[in-house]
Amino acid sequence: MIGLRAGRLPDIAGDFSCASCERSCRSTELDRHLWCEECIAAARAGAKRVGWKVGGGVAAALAAWIFLVVQPTILIGGWIGAVLAAFWLCSRIGTEFWYGHLRFRKRPR
Ligand SMILES: [Zn+2]
Repeated sequence: MIGLRAGRLPDIAGDFSCASCERSCRSTELDRHLWCEECIAAARAGAKRVGWKVGGGVAAALAAWIFLVVQPTILIGGWIGAVLAAFWLCSRIGTEFWYGHLRFRKRPR
């Protein structure tokens, strides 16, 4: 197993196809879920877009709640920091969750 890239299959003779796009590949081009690099990159990019939307939505809702309900008069920077932290955290959670969903939906059978 020396010299393998992390998460890749070893060089195995035979026909392999990507579990997502079904393009035939060498075993070394697939990861352990049998996805090719192009499909992984596309899923990552799609998940990132969803993550930004989730983070933006949560941050907007939190900012609206702070502005309308809390109506802070002091420590404005702290409230802005809380909104930014919620945006960052929720975008990361959304990205990973959606990426996991995409990977699970097209898993090898
Ligand atoms: Zn593929």
